[in-house]
Amino acid sequence: MNKDSAIFVAGARGLVGSAIVRRLQASGYTNVLYPSRQELDLSDADQVKKYFEGMKPEYVFIAAAKVGGILANNTQPVEFLLENLKIQNTLIPISYECGVKKLLFLGSTCIYPKFCEQPIKESALLSGPLEPTNEAYAIAKIAGIKLCQAYKKEYGFNAICAQPTNLYGPNDNFSSTGSHVIPGLMRRIMEAKEAKLEKIACWGTGTPTREFLFVDDLADACIFLMDSYDGIDIVNVGTGDEISIADLTKLICEQVGWEGEIEWDTSKPDGTPRKVCDISKLKSLGWNPKVDLAKGIELTLSWFKEHQNSIRT
Ligand code: GDP
Repeated sequence: MNKDSAIFVAGARGLVGSAIVRRLQASGYTNVLYPSRQELDLSDADQVKKYFEGMKPEYVFIAAAKVGGILANNTQPVEFLLENLKIQNTLIPISYECGVKKLLFLGSTCIYPKFCEQPIKESALLSGPLEPTNEAYAIAKIAGIKLCQAYKKEYGFNAICAQPTNLYGPNDNFSSTGSHVIPGLMRRIMEAKEAKLEKIACWGTGTPTREFLFVDDLADACIFLMDSYDGIDIVNVGTGDEISIADLTKLICEQVGWEGEIEWDTSKPDGTPRKVCDISKLKSLGWNPKVDLAKGIELTLSWFKEHQNSIRT
């Protein structure tokens, strides 16, 4: 990408898209296109086609998706499947038809089988059954990957795919039921501190482990891959480190400064028991994460405190 290339970021109001726009602008890219949902409905192919014909983007980052935590995914499979298929089935073909030079599609590590070997290698894709709580989302993302690979193979369109691990950071969804674990716990623990509660409930058993990547690191990796990777194979983006949900909860409690008791609500699902990526491929390309979990939580917490009254809850 050149500093004056026309770069389109789909999903720029969300956690990932906003971080990509932030990083592009901070790096001196002057022609970043990031229309709001009101300005451009990504599921409307006619609107998207007109927009692309008019603005002629050269590079496209697809960070637009319907995303959510374990409960939202588990209870709205129709919406997670349909909305994600619609967005990617609009953007990928139109990007090709309108002469986009290169496209990066973001998947997720939930595309991998529930019980695959850990740390998860890219080659684990489609080697076993998926985790049922987010199967609909995963199937949509797998379809997006396969569409990119098919375009590359059949038409030589330079569409690459990155698979980020669990993400967190500024502009996340902090809703009490729809969010992922870090924003969900941050909000609950902050509210417990403010209300001087002695006990709160967290979901599941606390024993599953997850890997967490600060979203600005993901944005950095996406720009790195756009500039330096043209392969057909998917690439994991993570830290390679994992932490149990119970230890993560302790870390957030410490940073918030709340010392109450955690009760584990086992009526809520645990999801996949363990999830940590093998990031050796990305490392061998020359990229490494920069923000560790403690620092990332500190940055996210201070963003949350600043925006508590105006964010998506
Ligand atoms: P997942 O990686 O798709 O399972 O995404 P989540 O971030 O939604 O959940 C990760 C783990 O955190 C699961 O084991 C949840 O049961 C657990 N968890 C504990 N408390 C919460 C909470 O308040 N919100 C969410 N979303 N998950 C929680």
